[in-house]
Amino acid sequence: MKNPSSSESLTGMQTRAVHAGEIPDATTGASSPNLIMSSTFLADPEASFSAEGDHRDDRYFYTRWGNPTVAQLEQKLAALEEGEAAMAFASGMAAVTGLFFHCLRPGDHLVLGDVVYAAVSELAQEFLHEWKIEVTRVDTSDPDNVASAMRDNTRLIYIETPCNPILRLTDIRAIARLAQHGGAQLAVDSTFATPVATQPLNLGADYVVHSLTKYLGGHGDAVGGAVIGRNEDIVRMRQKVGIRMGGVISPFNAWLILRGLATLPLRMKAHEEAAMKVATWLVEQPAITKVTYPGLPSHPQHALAREQMKNFSGILTFQSDHHRALPSLFAQHLQTIHYAVSLGHHRSLIFYIPTDEILKTSFTLTEEQDEHYRAYAGEAIFRLSVGIEDPEDLCNDLARVFAKLS
Ligand SMILES: *Cc1c(COP(=O)(O)O)cnc(C)c1O
Repeated sequence: MKNPSSSESLTGMQTRAVHAGEIPDATTGASSPNLIMSSTFLADPEASFSAEGDHRDDRYFYTRWGNPTVAQLEQKLAALEEGEAAMAFASGMAAVTGLFFHCLRPGDHLVLGDVVYAAVSELAQEFLHEWKIEVTRVDTSDPDNVASAMRDNTRLIYIETPCNPILRLTDIRAIARLAQHGGAQLAVDSTFATPVATQPLNLGADYVVHSLTKYLGGHGDAVGGAVIGRNEDIVRMRQKVGIRMGGVISPFNAWLILRGLATLPLRMKAHEEAAMKVATWLVEQPAITKVTYPGLPSHPQHALAREQMKNFSGILTFQSDHHRALPSLFAQHLQTIHYAVSLGHHRSLIFYIPTDEILKTSFTLTEEQDEHYRAYAGEAIFRLSVGIEDPEDLCNDLARVFAKLS
């Protein structure tokens, strides 16, 4: 049977999103991916029980080692990021933890963005220190900060662009050059950008990290994560981290995310178009003092956004002098937009992030870094993940709440 995912026949992003990794079932001819929930597979009598054992590539053994439905997701992810291989994890955080375990040993040094996903920041602050891994936190939006943080034992540079929650960007190409020069590897959390906007591996990164829970799954019904990179790294990661530590994804979640991925390019177009309309509308609202969106010319790094992002994605932040009153008004009176954490779903989500609080719980910044955070976030931001509803309905929903402010 012809494998429609063979890479030479798949050039466009939309075709890849639909077909890559999806192999019609050899026995039934089923056109859509099968959901194979089986935890174990009839074994070759020669098969070894060890993760280091020589397991044949064309057979499955135990779902923690690999699973046919998960493998289809992994192949699609690798095709979309134009990487050699991918490994799916139980969550975005399991993917980040897996990457750290794969790359870092006691005595190594990590250069980590000062503003990254809060749980990654807390993981670095609490655990990496205990594991004797040195961490230097820098504002990666200025490559000079990364250059001066590099040491002889720097093994990994970890950045997030656009970063959660303030939407500050980092120049991947510039940081990749520094990593290469310093003998370190570069990992990019590209959850906010998605491969539709940016393909970090093509810009020189060694690893891309995704929370599949967000845009890639896209429908708010499955938690998952992934690391995409070179085949040798991913094979090693599967042995060392997947099989031993066990944070693998459920085949059911993989199947849901695989289905979500098919429409990723279409959804990203709709997210971007709606976010642009909502951002432009918000700028005009008297209750709003500032709107930050990479697609707006007012974004301090709009030039880099144009260069590095083929799609400005669907997340924006806004600030208001009424920020203390708004969270409960949003929670009570929004009808279309859900007041909830997470992002990247077809459904719009909004959440309040007060600056003093997040700096205290999640980030330990220097005075200069603190000032730069505040330059993007003021006293507080509302992070709005614009869904794929009609943007007029989203604006009307917000307008109804703003009208209650007096
Ligand atoms: C949500 C998120 C994560 C963590 O992913 P989970 O799937 O929730 O574990 C990591 N990085 C970014 C940028 C995120 O937004």
